[in-house]
Amino acid sequence: MVHNFNAGPSILPKEVLQQASESLLNFNNSGLSILEIGHRTALFEEVLHEAVSLVKELMRLDADHEVLFLHGGASTQFMQVPYNLLGEGQTAAYIDNGIWGSKAIKEARLFGNVNVVASSKDKNHTYLPKEFTTPADAVYLHYTTNNTVEGTQWQTVPETHLPLVADMSSDILSRELDFNKHALIYAGAQKNIGIAGVNLLVINKNMLGKVSRKIPTILDYRIHIENGSMLNTPPVFAIYVSMLTLRWIKKMGGVAGIEKLNNQKADLFYSTLDALPIFRGPVAKEDRSKMNAVFVMEDTSLEKQFLNVAKEENLYGIKGHRSVGGFRASFYNALPLTSVEVLVQVMKDFANKVG
Ligand SMILES: *Cc1c(COP(=O)(O)O)cnc(C)c1O
Repeated sequence: MVHNFNAGPSILPKEVLQQASESLLNFNNSGLSILEIGHRTALFEEVLHEAVSLVKELMRLDADHEVLFLHGGASTQFMQVPYNLLGEGQTAAYIDNGIWGSKAIKEARLFGNVNVVASSKDKNHTYLPKEFTTPADAVYLHYTTNNTVEGTQWQTVPETHLPLVADMSSDILSRELDFNKHALIYAGAQKNIGIAGVNLLVINKNMLGKVSRKIPTILDYRIHIENGSMLNTPPVFAIYVSMLTLRWIKKMGGVAGIEKLNNQKADLFYSTLDALPIFRGPVAKEDRSKMNAVFVMEDTSLEKQFLNVAKEENLYGIKGHRSVGGFRASFYNALPLTSVEVLVQVMKDFANKVG
C-alpha cells in the first residue's frame, strides 16, 4: 500500500478512481467513453447539473450565489477576479500571506490599485497577519484561506466590512465555513475536489456588472453564468471527476463528516510532531494548516536520511516545497487516517533510531 501525501495534483478517493476508469470505457452504460461524448448531450448535462447541485448543497449556498466550473487553474482567477471586479482607478485590498497570494497581488495590479493591508513576508509567511485595517472604499478584500506552500490556514473567516474574495484551492470543502459570507470563492480542483483542468467558482451575482471596462466574452463571469458553465466546451472529464468526488464527500457525511476526519488526521500529526524533539514545525501553532503540514529537522543533515526511510515505507510526496525546504505532508480530504498513522509511526521509529 502506498501513502500519497502529494501537494497537488493529489490523492483522490479510490472509489472515484474506480468509477472514473470504468467510465473511460463505458460511461453510464452508453457504450461510449466519457472522453468521447458531446458536452451538450443529456449524458453530460446530467453530470454538470449534479456537480452544481452538490456544491450548492454541501456549501449550503443561498440564492445569490452562483456556481461555475471554468477552465484554467486557480492562477487564471488571479487575473479573472480583478478583470471582473476591480475597475480602473478603484482599489482592492489584499492580504499577502503566502506565495499564491503574492501572485494574485501581482496580477491585480494590472487592473487597478492594490492595497496590501497585511503581510507576513517579514517572517517568510510562517504566521497569518490577523490585525489589519482596510480602506473604506476598497471594492473587495482578497485572502488565501490555506497556504499550500507555507502550511498556514485561516481558522476563521477574517472580519471585514468589505466583500470577501477567497482563494480556497487547497482547503475547499475540507471544513465547515460560512461560505455565504464570501462574495467570490475560487478553487483549482486538483487538491481537494478533483483533477487539474477545472476551477470551481462560487460568485455572489450582486458583485457583477460594476466595472466599466470591456471584458472579453470568455473571461466575463456574467456570460458564464448566463450559459451555465457551457459557454464553450467545458473540461468534461475534469468536471466529471469533481462530481464523483462531491458525491463521495456527501457520502462521508458532507463537509462536517470530512472536517471530523481532517481534524483527526491533523491532531494525530501535530501532537506527534510536538512530542518529537528532532522535528520542528516552523509555523505559528495557532495558524497551522490541517491540509499541508510543513516540518523540518533540527539537524538538517538528517533530512536526506529521513526522506530515504520515507521512500522505503512507501510514503510519497513529503519532500518540502523548493522554496521552504524540509518536509510537507498534505492531508487532503481523500487521504485516509491510516496514512497519517503510518507517517507518525515512521517519524517515531526514526527519532528512536537517531535520537
Ligand atoms: C495550487 C494553488 C494555486 C495554483 O493552482 P493552479 O491550478 O496551478 O493555477 C493557487 N492557489 C492556491 C492556494 C493553490 O494551492
